[in-house]
Amino acid sequence: MRQRGWPITPFAILFEEGERGKSHASIGRYPPRFDRKIGGGCSSKLISGGGVVLFFSPHQDDELLALGAYAQHVISKGADAHVVLCSDGTKSCVRQILGDAHSCDKHDGLHDYRLDEAAFSDARDREYLASCQAIGYRPSRIHFAPRRAVDGSLSREEASAIIQRYLDVFPGAEVCTISPLVGESQHRDHRHLGEAAVELWRKGRIRRLNLFVEPYCLEAFRSENPDVELSHVAADGFKKAGLTSAVSQYCFWDPGVGRYAIGYHSVTGEFDAFMKEPASYWHTADGRM
Ligand SMILES: [Zn+2]
Repeated sequence: MRQRGWPITPFAILFEEGERGKSHASIGRYPPRFDRKIGGGCSSKLISGGGVVLFFSPHQDDELLALGAYAQHVISKGADAHVVLCSDGTKSCVRQILGDAHSCDKHDGLHDYRLDEAAFSDARDREYLASCQAIGYRPSRIHFAPRRAVDGSLSREEASAIIQRYLDVFPGAEVCTISPLVGESQHRDHRHLGEAAVELWRKGRIRRLNLFVEPYCLEAFRSENPDVELSHVAADGFKKAGLTSAVSQYCFWDPGVGRYAIGYHSVTGEFDAFMKEPASYWHTADGRM
């Protein structure tokens, strides 16, 4: 059964043929692999940093829920935006939910889809790829970090290596990732990614660093950092429709084509809230950090 209420725009054509390396054989050949030549196809002007914005997402769906409205905004202004997924997303409890032979309140029938971790990660990657395109990223700008971390174990060192790999290709790029200042309740992968970016900014490796607060962490952030002003951008009109389409990719249920609405099973309330008010919130790295 289709997810109630969501417009469905499957990008099934992207996943029909080809192979993209060992862990992604079932996904298809898009986007092209960038582990050898990250900047393939970019002009020298862009490689020098003019207009390049790099978005680093800890897991599938953070690039939408935390970074998506801002990404859509800069893409609409003509930025050359790249998004990099930094972990494999294998440890979500949704893998058990899909295979436990129980029903769920979102779909008819019993869920009896026993995916191993690789197949589960591939399914999450399909959601990420399709959703990023709905945000407005060109397919060639949607990346999987080479040697991305196992979900839940993204260290500062791994995060730093990933960010630096892309900065080597796009020195001077604006960098966007998750703020590490939410406090104890924040997911460790999120905090490590933010801390790695701040460290690189302190060392002068990052020219401009925007640190995004997950919408569901705004209260915790504000209580931890009462003096830090947040900027925000909200989407309305056709931009809201674009983000609605991006959300629908995480809600798309069609097990026959390897689509299991993993994002929506995982953080239903967060997606519902984002749909009502799609927005990104961020602060800039500055002297206080
Ligand atoms: Zn379900």
